[in-house]
Order: sequence, then structure tokens, then C-alpha cells
Amino acid sequence: MGRYGVMGGTFDPIHLGHLVAAQAALHEFELDAVYFVPSGQPPHKRHVTDGEHRYVMTLLATAANPRFYTSRVEIDRVGYSYTYDTILYLRQEFNSDEIYFITGADVISHLHTWYRYRELLQVCHFVAATRPGFAFDDALQSSSLTAAEVERISFLEVPSLAISSTDIRQRVRDGRPIKYLVPSAVENYIYKHALYRSGE
Ligand code: ATP
Ligand code: MG
Repeated sequence: MGRYGVMGGTFDPIHLGHLVAAQAALHEFELDAVYFVPSGQPPHKRHVTDGEHRYVMTLLATAANPRFYTSRVEIDRVGYSYTYDTILYLRQEFNSDEIYFITGADVISHLHTWYRYRELLQVCHFVAATRPGFAFDDALQSSSLTAAEVERISFLEVPSLAISSTDIRQRVRDGRPIKYLVPSAVENYIYKHALYRSGE
């Protein structure tokens, strides 16, 4: 039982944009906990850092928050996991049908390309957090979701952070600062393991 948030992502690396969106959803929907789920190797992203590094960084970023947890479910599976399968698995694991899948606004424009997205919208509440550079109206127009499908999505206003993992990786490559964009433990981990030094 209980109400759970789930935030999926590559988290390559996790940054404050992810954490702020998760915290806003936790508060708004009175969730008991939010589980961060780093993905396995996604087919649509060319080079992605080893899952173990992405898992540890996500753990470091979430460990101090009593309501944040990090799940190994996708990185421990061989290959890529579909969100639909992960949600079905977590519904069983939590013994709950109140799952809130938390995304940023950019996800909405291509949600209709996701594996079993119609069923996915039935097995969880979908939360789309505002994200700078991605307008909900534009995203919905290019999404080809039906009105009934759009109704299944809760749009959540969160403090705007124009941070992306892509930008963090570029900053590390360029020798520019990432301080205050990622938790300090994540920053230290990136330098310690010399992540993102070379191109994608
Ligand atoms: P990349 O640039 O590699 O795609 P990213 O910053 O988009 O990285 P992801 O791991 O792809 O991070 O995103 C995981 C989830 O977090 C997605 O649903 C995404 O929309 C959301 N998200 C990422 N950054 C933000 C942000 N700054 N504000 C709100 N949501 C965000
Ligand atoms: Mg992304």
C-alpha cells in the first residue's frame, strides 16, 4: 500500500533539475516516497556511462533525503527495460496501484512513441513537470495523444532549472564549473572517476 513516485531517467549524471521535480511531486501528490530508477543501456542514446556509475551517483544524490530511494531494477536487467514493464514490476513490489511516474515536459512530445504508452497511462498517474525550453502546449501538439490520454497527465509547475545532463557533460569536457548544478557528492564522484572527460 502507499503512494509512490517513480522517476526514470538515464541520470548521466543526476542533477538538481531531477531532484527539484521529484521533491515538488512528492509534496504536491503527498507521496510516501520517490524511487529514482536509472535506466539500463538505452537504445536511443548512443554512448551512455556504465550503469554502475550512474547508479552510484543517483544513490549519492538521494541518500540524505528520507523519502528518496534509488532502485537497481533496470540496471540489473540485461539490455533496456521499458517503463511499462518497470511500473508493472514496482506495482507488485510496492503492493500499490497508486504510482506516480514523474517526467519533465520534454517527455510528453514523444510519449506516443513509447512501448505500450496507452497501457502505461492506465497503470500509473503521469506527472509532467515544467522544464525550461519545453512548452507544454508545443509538446502536446506534436504528441498526437488523444484528449482522453492528455487527461491522464498531471502538469506540475516546478521551480525552473535550465539544467540538463547533456550540458553537465559538456561543462566537464570544457573544464567549466558544475558546482551547484549537481549535488557536491556527485560533483566529487565525477572528478574522482574522471567521467565525461572525452566526447560522447
Ligand atoms: P540528457 O540531456 O542526457 O537527456 P536530462 O537532463 O534530460 O539528460 P534524463 O535522465 O534524460 O536527464 O531525464 C530524466 C527525467 O528528468 C526526464 O523525465 C526529464 O524530462 C526530467 N528532467 C531532466 N531535467 C529536468 C529539469 N531541469 N527540470 C525538470 N525535469 C527534468
Ligand atoms: Mg533527457
